[in-house]
Amino acid sequence: MDTAYCTLDGVTYHITTFAALPQNEIAEKRRHLICPDPRCRMQAYFKRAATSGQGACFGARPHSKNCDLAASLGESRLGSTEVRDILRNPMDHIVIDTTCRGRGSFHIEGEDDSPGAPKGGQFQGDGPRGPSKMNRRLRPLLKSLIASEQFRNSSTIIELPQHFSLPVNKLFVNFNDIGPNHEKSFHGFWGLIYDTGTSYSGAFWLNTGERDELSVMVPAELYSDFKKRFGFQFDHEAEGMHVLVLGSLRSAQSGKKYIALRDINMCALCND
Ligand SMILES: [Zn+2]
Repeated sequence: MDTAYCTLDGVTYHITTFAALPQNEIAEKRRHLICPDPRCRMQAYFKRAATSGQGACFGARPHSKNCDLAASLGESRLGSTEVRDILRNPMDHIVIDTTCRGRGSFHIEGEDDSPGAPKGGQFQGDGPRGPSKMNRRLRPLLKSLIASEQFRNSSTIIELPQHFSLPVNKLFVNFNDIGPNHEKSFHGFWGLIYDTGTSYSGAFWLNTGERDELSVMVPAELYSDFKKRFGFQFDHEAEGMHVLVLGSLRSAQSGKKYIALRDINMCALCND
């Protein structure tokens, strides 16, 4: 969308004027943006122009159901047959595939449909009416979480072999829904990256929410792998993207909550 309302100063910004604001003003105001449609007013984000040529934009995910600016939420935006499959043919058991495809690096866009890439989603059961299992990597799961309330609420079993088997609605937790009962427990935490930072130790922080109270922490030793995997040249390219990370929620002594990334394969990023 081209406009977003800032609750700090009560201004509805056009993307061109917002992107031209001084950096410190952007940093402050981007955490207080909402969808300007009065029937929606959902939390919004600002995404800088990308080196790939995509211009700066505002977005909100999700918009409310009756929001006029959510018109582009259709299936065509989902892009990948893998994601469409999940939404069209909800099966009752999905096995997470964390194997790395391609020759050493992941592609952010188009990886699902690249020619010759092995397709997930084949039935695995031997029996003609056995339990229907499908394999999915984390990124299509993240896209489904973003796009479909029905999927977020579903009781489809998600299995990470040798780790867990949990229904979608118990495993995945949006950053905005995190509460005391999620502390120290393992989940698939997901949501928007508002901005990024690097700490003294070299750890890379993906910050979420209106305040700095919840972040995903990429340890210093995984930082260069992380950038390579997701194709970043600059840290700020992660801003405005969605992240899904499998891990445990912890609290620092300061009270700040964070999820430390332990394994690069336990994480997915995507633009909506
Ligand atoms: Zn909206």
